[in-house]
Amino acid sequence: MHISSAIFDCSAPDLASCPDESLPEFAFIGRSNVGKSSLLNFLSGKRELARVSNTPGFTKLINFFTINQNWRLVDLPGYGYAHVARQDQTKFNAAVHDYLQNRANLFCVFALIDASLPPQELDVEFIVWLVDHAVPFVLVFAKSDKVSTTKMQTHITAFKARISENCEMLPDILTCSATARLGRSALLNVIEEAMAQK
Ligand code: GDP
Repeated sequence: MHISSAIFDCSAPDLASCPDESLPEFAFIGRSNVGKSSLLNFLSGKRELARVSNTPGFTKLINFFTINQNWRLVDLPGYGYAHVARQDQTKFNAAVHDYLQNRANLFCVFALIDASLPPQELDVEFIVWLVDHAVPFVLVFAKSDKVSTTKMQTHITAFKARISENCEMLPDILTCSATARLGRSALLNVIEEAMAQK
């Protein structure tokens, strides 16, 4: 897929403030610092599409971008900000959970996992939540350049083992690196195919 335009649409603090449901949406989420902003910039070809913040927890709103005038890329607030007050964290989670469960035009979630780490509890919990709530998603192992292919495969296998008892069917898995500029077309293909199927 060629990306000819990527335009910031709006930021929403909750589901009620989200734009109309006229376009297919593909949402990106992951723990703070997983490399989500870098990946969104890499995917869209716009360096500043999602602000790459040095402050974990900067992105607290649901951010919408219209791509090629026919689909939306949705940047969801990350989870697992240690320094964010518990009350605020609960509020962000509520908006994200509401979006994930009730957004009719949500086609697929790209759940980002740090490829250089063994399975992290917060990630496993979140993925199991997606499975339990029947939210369509693919797993994206990001920052693949940080680790050898063998090590990454070990982490992927361990992650699959952690979620396997909750899944009837294991999710599709992609790997990518914004730094090494890898995995872009595979990700965009998922989007293209999902739109072609509907
Ligand atoms: P976010 O908090 O998930 O939006 O993560 P950022 O995109 O802000 O990235 C967090 C840190 O990881 C920054 O220091 C980035 O430079 C770094 N980073 C992002 N993507 C990659 C990647 O593909 N490979 C490596 N090695 N580092 C990355």
